[in-house]
Amino acid sequence: MEKVVIIGSGCAGLTAALYTARANLRPLVLTGTQPGGLLTTTSIVENYPGFPEGIDGYELMMRMQKQAERFGARVQFGSVEAVDVSRQPFSLTVDGEPLTAETIIIASGASHRHLGLESEHKLENKGVTYCATCDGALPMYRNQPLVVVGGGDSACEEAMYLTRFASIIYLVHRRDALRASKIMAERAFAHTKIKPIWDSVVTEVLDIKQDKVTGVRLRNLKTKAESVVDCAGVFVAVGLIPNTHLFKGVINMDESGYIIPREGAATNVPGVFVAGDCTDRVYRQAVTAAGLGCAAAIEAERYLAARNE
Ligand code: NAP
Repeated sequence: MEKVVIIGSGCAGLTAALYTARANLRPLVLTGTQPGGLLTTTSIVENYPGFPEGIDGYELMMRMQKQAERFGARVQFGSVEAVDVSRQPFSLTVDGEPLTAETIIIASGASHRHLGLESEHKLENKGVTYCATCDGALPMYRNQPLVVVGGGDSACEEAMYLTRFASIIYLVHRRDALRASKIMAERAFAHTKIKPIWDSVVTEVLDIKQDKVTGVRLRNLKTKAESVVDCAGVFVAVGLIPNTHLFKGVINMDESGYIIPREGAATNVPGVFVAGDCTDRVYRQAVTAAGLGCAAAIEAERYLAARNE
């Protein structure tokens, strides 16, 4: 039986692994389908403390894994298909194989909601991105027109962040009113560089043939008119989807699927802890996920110590 199973290998999961490994708990990290998590899909990470020149997202995650392994963490490629936390020990099914655990740290992260366009998929990391704070400062976006898609707080925040780099930002939203909080919306529209395009959806990201983003094709949902807006980048901010479906109905979560801790990193099930983007709908940064991973590990360690006294 495992003492600690960590579901997820992003910043939260690997930091939880580092701390539980250093507590001699030999944690087992289950990577999920994307080892290293969301950060591996971005290019240079410039806002993780300790790397003044920035660091490649993939490399940062590999370093975190190495650091955790150095103290005895075991990282196993695999996805959890089923989990039963109704009794101790907890049982999991990982790629068809059974596993039991005394504690579980859920660090399964969140996935960016995509628009679902083929052109969006083909041009990902070639001008299509899901994170302005990760990618906005790249030279390819400097002094260029950019498009942000979405009408929530994230879209406003991304647009505001990009005002430092872009020549102009088109905020494309499918309705004629933002979902964002009043203060975020007002702040965004007060900025001279941000121009809203209402009632519109992106129907195609251009240009697959050139293998880079040169613009977007838009359709106005009210007038049905089509248009093309030239831009060097498309920042998609249409929400995140927490990867928590396995725990629906068992672990307390809000209507969007974000896990609600009972106290600190503890969930409503004793012995099950949570960390990172699957519980954080506000900050969603690598460094906050790492901090939450540390907190979950410390709480798991204390729980095991009290249980085995
Ligand atoms: P969100 O509030 O769910 O907004 C998603 C936006 O994307 C909505 O405007 C939605 O349009 C649009 N959208 C969804 N699917 C779409 C599609 N397929 N095509 C085009 N548009 C689509 O998500 P979020 O902005 O990421 O925010 C998530 C949570 O984090 C919120 O609670 C937010 O308050 C919070 N947050 C807070 C801050 C802050 O306070 N600093 C910053 C970021 C996020 P509709 O409006 O038509 O549904």
